[in-house]
Amino acid sequence: MDRRTFLSGASIAAATVATACSQGQEGEVASPNVQTRRTRRLRMVTTWPANFPGLGTAADRVAEFCNTMSNGSLEVEVFAAGEIVGAFEAFDAVATGTADMYHAAEYYWQGKSPAFNFFTAVPFGMTATEIMAWVDFGGGQELWEELGREFGVVAFQAGNSGHQMGGWFKREINTLEDFRGLRMRIPGLGGNILRELGGAAVALSGGEIYPALQNGTIDATEWVGPWNDLAFGFYREAPYYYGPGFHEPGSALGLGINAGVWDGLDADHQAIIRAACRACNNMALGEYTHQNAIALNVLLNDHGVQLRSFSDEAWDRIGEIAEQVVADVANADPLSRRVYDSYIAARPRGPQVHRRVGPQPHPLRRHHRVVVGRVVDRFRSRA
Ligand code: CA
Repeated sequence: MDRRTFLSGASIAAATVATACSQGQEGEVASPNVQTRRTRRLRMVTTWPANFPGLGTAADRVAEFCNTMSNGSLEVEVFAAGEIVGAFEAFDAVATGTADMYHAAEYYWQGKSPAFNFFTAVPFGMTATEIMAWVDFGGGQELWEELGREFGVVAFQAGNSGHQMGGWFKREINTLEDFRGLRMRIPGLGGNILRELGGAAVALSGGEIYPALQNGTIDATEWVGPWNDLAFGFYREAPYYYGPGFHEPGSALGLGINAGVWDGLDADHQAIIRAACRACNNMALGEYTHQNAIALNVLLNDHGVQLRSFSDEAWDRIGEIAEQVVADVANADPLSRRVYDSYIAARPRGPQVHRRVGPQPHPLRRHHRVVVGRVVDRFRSRA
């Protein structure tokens, strides 16, 4: 239908409605023949505690937007970790149809494929705006869909924590030797780096971290950033707060949907879910940026937290290890190789204006030293 045909068709429809209204019986409002739409109910499982600031609330917000924008023809119901399935079972629940969608961080599925790491964050990798650029405009979304469909899931960005902090330490980290023997809660590829430094990476879900820090099972932990870390109270057990982190420079959250459910949705419902994810993606980054600043002041001024940053020596050594750890992902399988290649190729398209000039060994390392280096400088000026 071309535009003119559409317009004339719309005019006829409008005229018909007007006639029908004018011919209605007294006291009655005749209405056009609108077919009642069946409500599409979707169950969303998450990897977060109920209403957890920034993470759980991002999932709630996606659902709320879907339900409102669809005028109730979508009804997305959110379940916290453990209500239907445990946090790390969310992916399988959606893939098998036990639930329709999940809100999570894709690197939790690295046991399925290490390529999932790239759709959350990798050490010395992309910042929040850079991963948005790559996924939406640099070919990332297409690769993500190819990867997800291997398991029966289609996923989109639906939140971002921004640059995460390096974590909480009971003792200061002055030299690389101080990482040796360090027992630290740090997930994913960041954990691989700690092992290379001679430390022991421990995997714990959010709720398990504080007791482990308290009873000495671990010496250090990362979680997210000031807003979320203040909520867990880590400052009471580990006074040295290092930032920024090397392991998660801009962690994306993801909304995954069962591929069959997604393919069966009406086009407007698909568009509404996509729009809700995009809106929540942007809002989460703004909210984290806003709340982190407030929470960091509370930590420093009210709780006497000692702010620190890793030394240049540590950054350089960690950068070398990060290159290798991230590159190793590409060796897992052909699709992981293509995701890695796309990610690395997209990196130099970042904000060139912020980059220093000079020979650098690897795109990831060059990126981190320049873009993230500015964050380090900012933190140091406050410490
Ligand atoms: Ca983290």
